[in-house]
Amino acid sequence: MRTTLVAGNWKMNGTRDSIKVLLDGISAGMADVQCQVAVCAPAIYISDVKSQLDGSKIALGAEDVNENDKGAYTGEISTSMLKDFSVDYVIIGHSERRAIYNESDELVAKKFAATRAAGMIPILCVGELLEERESGVTEQVVARQLKAVIDLEGIAALADCVIAYEPVWAIGTGKTASPEQAQAVHAFIRGLIAEQDKAIAEKVQILYGGSVKGSNAVELFAMDDIDGGLIGGASLLVDDFLAICRAGKA
Ligand code: PEP
Repeated sequence: MRTTLVAGNWKMNGTRDSIKVLLDGISAGMADVQCQVAVCAPAIYISDVKSQLDGSKIALGAEDVNENDKGAYTGEISTSMLKDFSVDYVIIGHSERRAIYNESDELVAKKFAATRAAGMIPILCVGELLEERESGVTEQVVARQLKAVIDLEGIAALADCVIAYEPVWAIGTGKTASPEQAQAVHAFIRGLIAEQDKAIAEKVQILYGGSVKGSNAVELFAMDDIDGGLIGGASLLVDDFLAICRAGKA
């Protein structure tokens, strides 16, 4: 049995004040949440969020990291900097990073490796574009994205990571993959891993991301291979985010 993980991805949203209000609201509603919860914050607010989460069961995540440990990379954030603030999770290879910042599968794999090497848990995002789904290559795309990581790090690396299946056409669009569509890809991913290691396949949490809301989380999380959600828009709304968290199991 895998515990549900609900991870909020705040993206480039919020201010010091609004984030404090958001986190106060989420924290106040956590008493009846059974599942694991994480919030992935903009880098500049990680210190504030860490202080606010002191003593809380909500884990702290970052939205991205550089693949190098230090050096002349103006504007970038390293894994050791995130570790300095006891960050637990790092989102790696989000489709916005892949599309807007041209992150290749190989770069994503390097970021994944750096995150693990620093002792943090990568949330590895994979998922197809609309035209890829329509031309029937969803499984090939997801397999290629996963293979880049397995080629660099080996299958054992997936034992301590989280995978997020995020069909790009469902992100921020209000279009959610149906529970059956999402389950099919989640089962495919788990099957791919099982070909190399059954125990890791059974253990790894595979989250769904793409317009998850309080109103559809229960049916998505009820699917056999959906172990929670990576939540964008709804993670900025206290009541919606808590409703999603309450759909998760311990
Ligand atoms: C995301 O950006 O990871 C995401 C799933 O966004 P949204 O929930 O807004 O679709």
